[in-house]
Amino acid sequence: MKNEFLEKFINFLKNEGFIFQSNEIYGGVSGFYDFGPLGSLMKLNIKNLWLKDVVFSEKNVFLIDTSLINPKVVFEASGHLENFFDILIECKNCHLRFKKEEGEKCPDCGSSNLTKPRKFNLMFQTKIGSTGKIDGFLRPETAQGVFVNFLNVLNSTRTKLPFGIANIGKSFRNEINPRNFIFRLREFEQMELEFFTKPQEADFWFNYWLEKRYNWYLSLGIKKENIKKVEIPKSELPHYSKRNVDLHYNFPFGFQEIEGLANRGDYDLKRHSEFSGKSLTYYDQKEKESYFPYVIEPSAGIERLVFAFLVDAFDEDEVDGKKRFVLRLNPKIAPIKFAVLPLLSNRKEIVRLAQDIYDNLRKEFICVYDENGSIGRRYRRQDEIGTPWCITVDFESLEKKDVTVRDRDSTKQERIKIEELEEFFLNKLK
Ligand code: ATP
Repeated sequence: MKNEFLEKFINFLKNEGFIFQSNEIYGGVSGFYDFGPLGSLMKLNIKNLWLKDVVFSEKNVFLIDTSLINPKVVFEASGHLENFFDILIECKNCHLRFKKEEGEKCPDCGSSNLTKPRKFNLMFQTKIGSTGKIDGFLRPETAQGVFVNFLNVLNSTRTKLPFGIANIGKSFRNEINPRNFIFRLREFEQMELEFFTKPQEADFWFNYWLEKRYNWYLSLGIKKENIKKVEIPKSELPHYSKRNVDLHYNFPFGFQEIEGLANRGDYDLKRHSEFSGKSLTYYDQKEKESYFPYVIEPSAGIERLVFAFLVDAFDEDEVDGKKRFVLRLNPKIAPIKFAVLPLLSNRKEIVRLAQDIYDNLRKEFICVYDENGSIGRRYRRQDEIGTPWCITVDFESLEKKDVTVRDRDSTKQERIKIEELEEFFLNKLK
């Protein structure tokens, strides 16, 4: 099914330098996308904001960074080898392969002439080393890197329960039918927290993280009507989970998961203890006993977040009788914080002052300088890529040592002293 808005949007994001199909000059492979000059900045901002929420604003959460390729035993222990599959069906007419849950007919040609459903494991496999004797797998989630390092972190930080270990990085899933732009990818980035608690406190921490993560989206401008919590019925829980609540966002193709919260119980630590022969228990000095902590896991995919923030911010309105295309991104997420614009590009003094201001401020902020075209067109260019402010240097600036700062959303302008600009933006971005 064609989605006209989505097609227009994908084109727009490509033209502006947000997101490109990977290896497009060779025709590309579905499920792989690259991030351009603006998209990669946005990704970085989202990661930093997640880190602030989940790691740095917490007393007892540690960040680690773990291997992408892991030996087979890790995924035998985690249950991925046995359980991490989709049910695949092939259309005998057009040979499209799709997931059973996508329907009883081929989603492309509509044929009912289909193969029998069969299991398809979603992990990418590789061989490690020159002899090729070691079976390796690209990780399908960042979480296992945390569990295999549980003892290392516990011993090196000497921390006590409850505490968390966060891991950010690429994950790989050989999705059968990657679709919907960057929603379902074969290579993507995850931001995961494994928060270890006493078993009897797991419910409390589940709710704590659910609320914290939900409010994070609202605080960054996601519209309340576009995000909802969805409790997963017991019968549909993954093999490791005691409870799951997903956060769903209203994408152009309907509400779909952007982040999942799970109570993984003691499944992972127990299994890794069993398979490694190392005891991954926690010694509780107060209770004088050892036990397996429970794990609460908020898990988000960065690309789905980028997608949601972009869709949510997209707007069209009219300014001075002209249609305007605007990305109302939260300033903290916007790739470029402001543009410095000389009102007239043929007046040397104005251009020089604007360039001086730009040279000074770009040491602290991601910003751009633009002197091409009419001022109205330059404003609109910035509106389109979500730049929250434009600094305009005019004749008065030469005398009064001030500039106008235009707000993207209200289009209102205020005069600010040049020497106060840095503080002005630092405050806005706090
Ligand atoms: P889905 O049901 O959509 O396949 P999932 O339930 O398998 O997702 P989880 O295993 O809970 O996903 O992964 C946690 C998060 O990782 C998801 O909320 C999503 O943001 C992200 N994610 C998972 N699979 C993909 C993918 N193929 N492409 C992009 N992001 C993904």
